[in-house]
Amino acid sequence: MYDFIIIGGGPAGMMAAGRAGARGKKVVLLEKKDQLGKKLLICASGRCNVTNTAAPDSLIKAYGKGGHFLRTALQTFDNEKLRLFLLSYGVETVIENKGRVFPKSQRAASVLKALETYMHNHKVKIQTNSHVLQLTLENNRVSGVETNHGSVFGRNILIATGGRSYPATGSTGDGYTLASSVGHAICSTYPAIIAFETEETWMKSLQGTPMKNVNITAYQSGKKIAGQFGEALFTHYGVSGPTILDMSKRIVECLSNGHVPIRIDFKPHHTSEELDKILVNQIKRHGNKAIKSCLVFFIPEKLAPVLLNLCDIEPHKKTSQITAPERKRIVKQIKGLPLTCMRHRPIEEAIVTAGGIRLDEVDAKTMKSKLIEGLYFAGEVLDIDGPTGGFNLQAAFSSGYLAGDSID
Ligand SMILES: Cc1cc2nc3c(=O)[nH]c(=O)nc-3n(C[C@H](O)[C@H](O)[C@H](O)COP(=O)(O)OP(=O)(O)OC[C@H]3O[C@@H](n4cnc5c(N)ncnc54)[C@H](O)[C@@H]3O)c2cc1C
Repeated sequence: MYDFIIIGGGPAGMMAAGRAGARGKKVVLLEKKDQLGKKLLICASGRCNVTNTAAPDSLIKAYGKGGHFLRTALQTFDNEKLRLFLLSYGVETVIENKGRVFPKSQRAASVLKALETYMHNHKVKIQTNSHVLQLTLENNRVSGVETNHGSVFGRNILIATGGRSYPATGSTGDGYTLASSVGHAICSTYPAIIAFETEETWMKSLQGTPMKNVNITAYQSGKKIAGQFGEALFTHYGVSGPTILDMSKRIVECLSNGHVPIRIDFKPHHTSEELDKILVNQIKRHGNKAIKSCLVFFIPEKLAPVLLNLCDIEPHKKTSQITAPERKRIVKQIKGLPLTCMRHRPIEEAIVTAGGIRLDEVDAKTMKSKLIEGLYFAGEVLDIDGPTGGFNLQAAFSSGYLAGDSID
């Protein structure tokens, strides 16, 4: 008979297990894959953006409506405490742009090692290849779980099974089934950090071309719905990259009402008039060159012929022969290259799953179910998601820690 059965060996489950173990509780962690933390290991391409240095208020705001729910969890185990925790296990961290925190080693494996040591030091029993199939209840209280290897009995259970993205890492949405089987409501799930397929197909030839210092604005019915400055990426199907991923939750929500046009401003720090003057200057200086070579000053080289085609201008046309109306068309495209988001990529490719266990059925002070005695939730399985920048791992660590801190 365990004090705490943890379902899921991701960051939320491992943190909860370690914390409960540190409090002297008898803990078992059941992980269906052959290894813990498979998703953790691929975070930020294996570099693992563990948290963000955002101040407490900004940290809470980053999660939108979920931020209020996370307040106690973030107060109990915030970004500073997480960094100190990692340091206490020999993992120094460094801060990169926009407050992103990474292990100094640049290796997610060092973060996983810290969590494994934490659990080991506090005698957490770890069972990999243990797939939890069902919860068992007695008089509205959890009593254990059924796994592929038989029954495990415990007084408290944590569902920390993650979301539905990157299913090869083990996050296949089992937590939603387990929770709904005992009466919990699930807010419908959708991808929150995801790339988009566009109506236009011309970017196929630009696959992998990065766009730097661009301003991207998304619209619906003529109204701005989201905007971001930074980097983006052309892909064979459409657009991706940091700015797109950061705007993606809003775009996904709007896609249910129809296509979402976006405009890419390649020179956001210049007005169209200023840009026109710069272009005139370039034309004067490089009159003998083909116009496509002249444009590399403004846009990625590979994009130049595509953009000129969109302007109905022959890319090899001599720069000195560009007419004023043609120049205006070029400026218009540089200041707002139009693309149309048709659909998001499949949820399996999402960085994070939005939706999940309904928050009003969970006590935010303890992560305990309000419906079933002894049942707890932590991590991405909850209806919480944050933007890129380390916020999703912080939410998993904080909610996991609070659950491990709360069980009796
Ligand atoms: C490619 C990629 C990169 C990312 N990079 C970052 C980043 O740099 N920074 C950041 O903050 N966030 C990042 N994220 C998001 C972050 O990884 C997740 O939000 C976080 O891992 C969620 O933690 P979790 O513990 O809730 O769930 P998960 O990490 O998904 O872990 C859930 C675990 O539960 C197990 N499980 C599921 N069902 C069962 C079952 N029935 N029985 C037993 N075990 C089960 C799974 O096998 C899995 O190991 C990234 C995500 C992806 C996909």
